Amino acid sequence: MDGQFRVVVVGGGFAGLTTALSLAHKRSSVSVVLVEPQEHFLFTPLLYELLSGELKTWQAAPKLERLLEGRGIALLQDRVTSINRRTRCLATGSGRELSFDRLVLACGGVLQSFGVAGVTDHAIGFRAMADLGRLQRLVQRLQTQPRPLQRLAIVGAGASGVELACKLADLLAGQALIELIEQGDSVLAGSREFNRQQALAALRKRGVLVRCQSRVQMVAADRLTLLVQGQTETLPCAGVLWTAGLAVAPPPLLPSVPTDPQGRLICRTNLLLAGEEAIFAAGDVAAVPRQKGKQPLPATAQVAMQQAPVLARNILASLDGEALQDFQWNDLGEMLSLGRGQAAITAKGFTMAGPTAARLREAVYLARMPGAGHRLAAAVGWLGEHLKP
Ligand SMILES: Cc1cc2nc3c(=O)[nH]c(=O)nc-3n(C[C@H](O)[C@H](O)[C@H](O)COP(=O)(O)OP(=O)(O)OC[C@H]3O[C@@H](n4cnc5c(N)ncnc54)[C@H](O)[C@@H]3O)c2cc1C
Repeated sequence: MDGQFRVVVVGGGFAGLTTALSLAHKRSSVSVVLVEPQEHFLFTPLLYELLSGELKTWQAAPKLERLLEGRGIALLQDRVTSINRRTRCLATGSGRELSFDRLVLACGGVLQSFGVAGVTDHAIGFRAMADLGRLQRLVQRLQTQPRPLQRLAIVGAGASGVELACKLADLLAGQALIELIEQGDSVLAGSREFNRQQALAALRKRGVLVRCQSRVQMVAADRLTLLVQGQTETLPCAGVLWTAGLAVAPPPLLPSVPTDPQGRLICRTNLLLAGEEAIFAAGDVAAVPRQKGKQPLPATAQVAMQQAPVLARNILASLDGEALQDFQWNDLGEMLSLGRGQAAITAKGFTMAGPTAARLREAVYLARMPGAGHRLAAAVGWLGEHLKP
């Protein structure tokens, strides 16, 4: 490998930031540019603890500038708007053009409205710092101006919906009725049985009303409409939180590349885009094949973070003309936040629930924070809180 090659990473979330840090750590003859519109890296599994105030913004959503300090990575606070595969050049929202030798697409997911009317205008998502701000203002309004029978509807009873329902129930302490709405037959359909049982008990204990087989048809500012067993029902709501599904919206590539039915970029097992030798993808935006008979990879931070070191190695190998490695996922298990100071864990045959599980979950996540300096500071801050007399 001669001279300086430029690697551009699109997206400073789990896959992108971890890849950029791994690359910078490996070799100085590669210049790395990270393009990300947000100021903060957000550790999404701890978004519930940011909502409840159990963790502080600097701990769970540190500034990217701080995380990249002294790492030799150039940060461009901008959004990539298009990519020209022929000229190996990309364009950004602020009108810049940037050429690359290798490109990583790690632009994650966005809210999936499934085309339901009113979702983008009236529902609050739960994926970003801006969503957190909107939800915190709603919670404050419900706490300070309580009205009889005010209802908060959470749509989608996957992990995010269940975790959010438990946290909100604890925060609102009876000041709003919380309803969890799911179009499928059950809550946490894809979760481990132990965690599912713990979650059901946590929802029951907090008085969260669960409605399965209920499909949302329309969301308005003060209500939503449901289709339940062929009948339409209207629920007046003080707020609607939307945690159902995940969509992807990568910047357009010219010429276009193959995508799966969800719009994810089809990759090979070495994380190169199908039909490409210079563009890789990872995280939620990437559809990576698995061996026959194995479940498709879940869209999780765990997968995104495990892909990053393989991706970094493969980028360097591709520049050196060496063979690339296949990505293999090691399933580390599942942890759920189930209200203030409560959690459930299933990992490699081990199960645990309650306050100790909640502490362990936070400690494990803080230990997985990107950047050694931040990891240490976040862990010291956390220990300080937990060792307070
Ligand atoms: C509330 C919540 C809780 C979760 N809990 C867990 C959990 O407990 N365990 C787990 O493993 N997973 C969890 N997940 C899933 C996890 O957050 C995602 O799988 C993970 O973030 C995927 O990483 P990523 O790098 O693909 O995308 P992200 O982390 O979303 O990062 C993508 C980044 O790309 C940026 N971007 C987007 N478009 C562009 C563009 N055009 N140009 C430049 N930048 C762009 C975005 O601003 C974003 O910062 C949770 C998700 C949510 C929402």
